[in-house]
Amino acid sequence: MMRNNLVFDSFDDALKEYAKENKVPIILDEGLSFLINIIKVSKTKKILEIGSAIGYSAIEIVKNTDSYVDTIERNLDMYNEAKKNIALANLNDKINIYNVDALESFDLFKHKKYDLIFIDAAKAQYKKFFQEFEILLNDNGIIICDNMNFHNLVNGNLDDMSRSLRGLVRKLSEFEAWLLENDKYLSSIYDIGDGMSISIKKE
Ligand code: SAH
Ligand code: MG
Repeated sequence: MMRNNLVFDSFDDALKEYAKENKVPIILDEGLSFLINIIKVSKTKKILEIGSAIGYSAIEIVKNTDSYVDTIERNLDMYNEAKKNIALANLNDKINIYNVDALESFDLFKHKKYDLIFIDAAKAQYKKFFQEFEILLNDNGIIICDNMNFHNLVNGNLDDMSRSLRGLVRKLSEFEAWLLENDKYLSSIYDIGDGMSISIKKE
């Protein structure tokens, strides 16, 4: 369901069109508007994004909020596309993109602090991303994960899926259970966009 009044200009529309044509899984409008609202309400300034793809979510976040984004993309083609898009959007001063694997590059980030971490990379690795980067969160920091419903396959019938897909869906379900049991955070999972979790670090 799509009920918001986000404004997209022709540049945004071109990114969305590119993503559609090239099957790049960018954040849905509904998820984006939710994320933007959370960032504004929490007065978040510094964001770490894991999984840039073509830079769409990072660009929309900084265009619509008063924030800075460090974003990580391991795929060189995606990284190049994102780098180009960030420059075209004139946002080189607000978005830093790193062409590294998030699970092999903690040292690059170890001295940084973030108000919000947005996890949107390989779905089977969510727990690893969470555990690797949570130490960088400020007090009252927030971790948001996208695609928690994974195209509505989570809670679907596992028998109807390919083996690899089933493994991935199982991993996401395990991550969800782990998240809800993790008492260092107050966590909720919403059926917004493709399913989004919000975890707020307790005092
Ligand atoms: N956040 C983007 C979409 C990201 S799609 C948007 O909404 O616009 C997921 C991306 O994560 C893919 O481009 C993939 O290459 C990247 N990715 C997956 N695993 C990764 C890892 N371990 N480190 C860095 N990037 C990763
Ligand atoms: Mg996503």
